[in-house]
Amino acid sequence: MAERTVLRCSICGGPIDEGEALYIDDTIDYAGFTAIDEDLLGGLLCPGCAEELSEFGSTMRYYGPEGSFSVKFIDFTVKDTGKRTVIYHYVEDVDPEDRIGDIVKLLEAIMRTYTWQPSSPYTGAYQPREGQVQVDGTTWVRAIRAWAAIGAEGKPVEVINELIRLAKAGALDFPIIVAYPRSSNVAVAYLDIWVRERDRSKLQKMIPEGFSLSEGYSVQVL
Ligand SMILES: [Zn+2]
Repeated sequence: MAERTVLRCSICGGPIDEGEALYIDDTIDYAGFTAIDEDLLGGLLCPGCAEELSEFGSTMRYYGPEGSFSVKFIDFTVKDTGKRTVIYHYVEDVDPEDRIGDIVKLLEAIMRTYTWQPSSPYTGAYQPREGQVQVDGTTWVRAIRAWAAIGAEGKPVEVINELIRLAKAGALDFPIIVAYPRSSNVAVAYLDIWVRERDRSKLQKMIPEGFSLSEGYSVQVL
């Protein structure tokens, strides 16, 4: 019997049918993404990983005195090296521009507190691993953790929406980060709010007693 070459995906390690293999250096469009791991160049992707790279990602949005700023992250572990790689692109500009590097660094640190938990080769969700992170001497904490079924309504949703509205309008006197960790479950949205540890009590004062987002509420992703 003739030996058959099995092609394997550089990211998930899964087998790829020859006709479906996508070559990283010339087929995938990385326009707008940066920090792509050089190790991946020349590798092969299966259709699932290629789709993830080009279309999906977790969005981290920063609201601060500089304005709001979003970064979309796509991360994966390179099968051969076991190295976790994060690539990103800016969704909005920030002013002043020299703050971009600091904010991306902060948002990336928060992104790395989540890890992808697969439930099948193509499904899963980002789950939080750590509830706090230290960047440049400042401790940031995950202050609100929410998951919500799409379509439901309720007081907690209004509270979250109002908080985001105030942040967007620059009406908060402290910065917040809204994290939207990706899930393959299109019926559920995940949303976490991060603040500096020293601002946690300010945020808590804005949240009504008994606030809970654990009973199938929806959150409007703005
Ligand atoms: Zn793959």
